[in-house]
Amino acid sequence: MTETLTLPQATSTGASALDARGISAWFGGRKVLSRVSLEMPAGRVTALIGPSGCGKSTFLRILNRMHELIPGAELAGEVLLDGEDIYARGRRLTDARRRIGMVFQKPNPFPAMSVYDNVTAGLKLTGVRASGAVKDDLVEECLSKAGLWKEVRDRLRQPGGALSGGQQQRLCIARSLAVRPRILLMDEPCSALDPTSTRRIEETIRDLAEEVTIVIVTHNMQQAARVSDQCAFFLAEQGTPGRIVEHGPTPAMFSAPSDRRTADYVEGRF
Ligand code: ADP
Ligand code: MG
Repeated sequence: MTETLTLPQATSTGASALDARGISAWFGGRKVLSRVSLEMPAGRVTALIGPSGCGKSTFLRILNRMHELIPGAELAGEVLLDGEDIYARGRRLTDARRRIGMVFQKPNPFPAMSVYDNVTAGLKLTGVRASGAVKDDLVEECLSKAGLWKEVRDRLRQPGGALSGGQQQRLCIARSLAVRPRILLMDEPCSALDPTSTRRIEETIRDLAEEVTIVIVTHNMQQAARVSDQCAFFLAEQGTPGRIVEHGPTPAMFSAPSDRRTADYVEGRF
């Protein structure tokens, strides 16, 4: 049997892994983001915070080319992944997808598919080949990194939909890791979960940050403080498009924000 698995290894250099420059976005001609620029360093966790409707999810979708799939959506600016624009002519969508994974608010494993097949589901889609023991090892590795292996090692053939909500979310994390992404985008990954599951995911995020660059949207300020290295505060004031009011190292954003609106937000005043 041939066993093939050809994947580039992620590296964490501290340099900027993902660099969004001058991002503006529109839906049906209505501008919802204005000139957002943010560097997301390799091997670090960046938290996007701010009130509902200020464009955090839109920004996240732009980072892995999901925005362009929405009818009526437009975009300006560039997103550099390790220095190369993911929107450059000739760059394939699947290339960005393989290197930039996404985990959503609501856990969305393929419910009827086995736990094992859920983890490997992305391989075929993105053209990565794996078989036999190599594939088994990859499944164990990804489930371990997602903090789920011990709980499901005897349940690999059960449907993904049979797991608890927190386990399903960790299965989704394992699924995104299978193609060894360079970046993992997470849009409020704990909003649908209980506090215990939330803490488990937070531990997983911290562990993963060693090798994957993480960008997480969260409404939970304690969570942002616990998991992130840097924060960006988004705001859309009085019908104006969303933009970043302030960004910087997480401790400073919480203890000494330079903008009054950031202080008001992180201290729960709006
Ligand atoms: P957040 O994640 O910060 O809550 P979103 O990125 O979801 O904000 O939304 C930003 C703005 O874009 C909002 O005004 C929202 O109504 C609008 N919007 C988001 N998605 C769509 C869509 N698919 N079609 C039209 N408008 C959208
Ligand atoms: Mg959102």
